Amino acid sequence: MNAEFARASRPTDCPCGGAAPNRASGAKPPRYADCCGRFIDGGDGGDAPATALELMRSRYTAYVLGDTGYLRATWAAHTCPADLDADPAAPGAPRWLGLAIRRHDVLDATHAEVEFVARYKTGGRAFRLHESSRFTRGDDGRWRYVDGDIHEN
Ligand SMILES: [Zn+2]
Repeated sequence: MNAEFARASRPTDCPCGGAAPNRASGAKPPRYADCCGRFIDGGDGGDAPATALELMRSRYTAYVLGDTGYLRATWAAHTCPADLDADPAAPGAPRWLGLAIRRHDVLDATHAEVEFVARYKTGGRAFRLHESSRFTRGDDGRWRYVDGDIHEN
């Protein structure tokens, strides 16, 4: 996909809604360009998320936008699936409806956890993905997603 098309198809409001622990559910969403857009569309020289929480939000937004390249770039190399494809137009692909952040725990300078609930629809049915995700910060100072535990509720 060329960069101009990618930019033209970006939303005005950020799909992540600026989700954060204790954020009111009806709060006005931030602008995409001011929120996850500066990470997703920033390229190699762009801003990197300063916290695992910001990275979590931007990865949710990348799923909404189908930006597989960003998901791969922010996934720890040893856990990133080889067949990762977030194309929202693919058959059976989830339609993401919203993100809520339950918890952001900074464990130390290079480890953090984020617990979230993401709502989505697929095949006409609504689902919730409730996960506690682990993140690490590399020698380059960038946070990356490692893996997560799914909560069965
Ligand atoms: Zn955002």
